[in-house]
Amino acid sequence: MTDFSQLNKSSAKSFNEQKATIKKLMQGREIKCPHCLKAIVLYLPEQSANPGARCAKGCTDIALDFV
Ligand SMILES: [Zn+2]
Repeated sequence: MTDFSQLNKSSAKSFNEQKATIKKLMQGREIKCPHCLKAIVLYLPEQSANPGARCAKGCTDIALDFV
């Protein structure tokens, strides 16, 4: 199970956008970074010590806190 409550809450809108992005990535959809147009890659806790969704350049960097 994934708990989204610990995601960055800088604003409700961006929180919902981040949540939607993570959800799509988890469904296997390809999401492109709106800034650099590179694919956003989802890093799961089993794969990374710093789980989250990031693009190659780092302009999209969504932290994930798994329970
Ligand atoms: Zn980017």
